[in-house]
Amino acid sequence: ATERHDPECLFCRIIAGEIPSERVHEDDLVIAFKDLHPQAPVHVLVVPREHRRDVTELAQEPQLLAHTATVASRIAADHADGDFRLVFNTGKSAGQSVFHVHAHVLAGGKLAEGEL
Ligand code: 5GP
Ligand code: ZN
Repeated sequence: ATERHDPECLFCRIIAGEIPSERVHEDDLVIAFKDLHPQAPVHVLVVPREHRRDVTELAQEPQLLAHTATVASRIAADHADGDFRLVFNTGKSAGQSVFHVHAHVLAGGKLAEGEL
């Protein structure tokens, strides 16, 4: 997989440190930071460092997809009771607004049934 930094991409800019974020995890492959508008007591985004558009593209790299899920599990264990919802909005009509793939980790307390 080739390195693709898109200077117009919000999450590429967060990864580069050009825009501040509250990071809760980082390693060679992914970073995780708190969502600006949390929709659960714990709402963290797990984001591959390299620009990929969505989970369909990410799924072409199974190891990276698996690592994203592993990091999500650890965040739910460290910041909540271990239970969590993992959401990849994919495409505009599904609510994707940032086209740099990110897994929403929602945790902490009873989560409402619903769209996110
Ligand atoms: P999407 O709608 O693409 O699935 O999710 C994008 C998420 O990014 C939203 O939940 C939104 O609140 C969050 N977000 C948008 N801009 C920023 C930002 O500048 N910083 C942080 N930490 N989160 C952001
Ligand atoms: Zn990007």
